[in-house]
Amino acid sequence: MSTPTQATDISALIVGAGPTGLILACDLARRGLDFRIVEKATEYAVGSRGKGMQPRSMEVLDDLGVIDRILSYGQFHLPMRSYDGTTVLGDHDMHEGRHPTPDRPYESTLLIPQWRVEETLRWRLAEWGEGVELATELVAIEQNEDYVTATLQKSGTREQVRSKYLIGADGGHSFVRKSINVGFEGETWKQERIMTGDVRVNGLDRDHWHMWPKHKDGFVALCPLRFSEMFQFQAQVLTQEAGEPSLETFQRIIDERTGRIDLKLYAPTWLSLYRANVRMVDRYRVGRIFLAGDAAHVHSPAGAMGMNTGIQDAYNLGWKLGAVLNRAKESLLDTYEHERMPIAASLLGLSTRLHQQTFKDREMRRGEEVLQLGLNYRGSSLSWQDDAPTTPLQAGDRAPDAPLLDTDGSRVRLFDIFRGPRFTLLSRGRHDLQGLIRVGERFKQHLHAYTIENGPFQAAARNNQLVDDQGHVLRAYGGENDAVFLIRPDGYIGFIGGSKSIGFVESYLDQLHRER
Ligand SMILES: Cc1cc2nc3c(=O)[nH]c(=O)nc-3n(C[C@H](O)[C@H](O)[C@H](O)COP(=O)(O)OP(=O)(O)OC[C@H]3O[C@@H](n4cnc5c(N)ncnc54)[C@H](O)[C@@H]3O)c2cc1C
Repeated sequence: MSTPTQATDISALIVGAGPTGLILACDLARRGLDFRIVEKATEYAVGSRGKGMQPRSMEVLDDLGVIDRILSYGQFHLPMRSYDGTTVLGDHDMHEGRHPTPDRPYESTLLIPQWRVEETLRWRLAEWGEGVELATELVAIEQNEDYVTATLQKSGTREQVRSKYLIGADGGHSFVRKSINVGFEGETWKQERIMTGDVRVNGLDRDHWHMWPKHKDGFVALCPLRFSEMFQFQAQVLTQEAGEPSLETFQRIIDERTGRIDLKLYAPTWLSLYRANVRMVDRYRVGRIFLAGDAAHVHSPAGAMGMNTGIQDAYNLGWKLGAVLNRAKESLLDTYEHERMPIAASLLGLSTRLHQQTFKDREMRRGEEVLQLGLNYRGSSLSWQDDAPTTPLQAGDRAPDAPLLDTDGSRVRLFDIFRGPRFTLLSRGRHDLQGLIRVGERFKQHLHAYTIENGPFQAAARNNQLVDDQGHVLRAYGGENDAVFLIRPDGYIGFIGGSKSIGFVESYLDQLHRER
């Protein structure tokens, strides 16, 4: 092994190129920050793993400009067909009755293999001129008050990297977490195992998620993965005798639990045995080092929470790191743990309940809570409210979407207006135009400010004027006569107040962006 080469200086080192690391990399790339993302694997993962993408994650991917690609590879409302042996028991849609609405453009879980999500994020990252460094493993970390020194190992050589921040997005076995002595409390359910993999199947249609829930040895399911020839195989394993995951084992399970002799599995690309772990950290940050995604919390696969929670960890951290690296106050980074830790704890509780429901009661229907649209930061120090107008929303809530018209009279959505790495200020009713201009000018690097008028659209509109021609903004946001809403870069409402509260908006942005 060679001695480490000279340390280099960067702003952030992201360890791990799963969905969490990739989302953070995209967010930092679009802010033009100097960072690296390293991955110890020599090749990109091919497994479908977390194939359930939740609506809130789709909103994040919309903001990053990749939602059309994601939707084209995914599938909504795939009916689940249940069998008892060879008898069809019936079809049902886990998300029956859920359809897009003006305030929620993505309303139910999208089925998409995790490798496709990762591929899409790497493609987006490449558009920003960045890429993952494969076969590059973090093997040591030290930190002091000013920077983190990481030792990276690649092809037998070692390199030292000095970065202002290091983010451990390195999965459930996180080397980063262990290196900074953060505990991972919880349980491993040794008896609750699931064999899973991607295989081709002869003799089965691709229009249903096929499920045999009733066998005494546990359920088995085959879910077609769109735009591929593959099915995701999943089988509950209740006994130790099941053996190691292999095509032969998968075939034996299918033969025994379905009673069908016509189903032939072949050409596997990924085979694994998964033990349910339910664990989380008691800290998300130690000095200049952060934990995100599975490195901070692992869930049961039931309910499709893991990947989605990681995506949102990264999105919460990205804009804060961006602001602090642009000289905002360091304390902003403390809000990452304050905001995300309670959410991880509650989602751990939820996925544990769903695990019980799926694995013991064999019940597959999913409630509203899995969509992650109701998660909020109401209790956060970043959620301010003054003299709130009449609104169904509170500071800390997700900012809803709504279709409206822009200055030219073209149809846009609020999500189009929000898209990008900055805050958005919306004012409706009686505007404090002087105040809006002043705040817009002072924080022009960090903020776009808009006024919202009631319809109909009139030509010669002011710059940055939007027209709520169908009343969708009013329905979602309220505040008809007099309201301002400050939307954070990650799509949550930072401040709600009346039009006279522009001074509070100024203080809010000041505390974030005042130089240290
Ligand atoms: C069978 C199964 C089904 C699942 N179903 C769902 C689902 O439906 N929905 C859902 O949301 N989630 C699901 N999950 C969970 C989901 O796959 C994970 O939550 C998700 O992959 C976590 O993403 P991550 O980026 O945090 O970590 P990972 O995807 O684990 O990525 C971490 C990366 O870090 C790399 N790494 C580790 N150590 C180092 C090091 N020292 N140096 C450099 N790189 C390193 C690893 O190689 C890895 O690529 C499922 C998981 C499994 C196994």
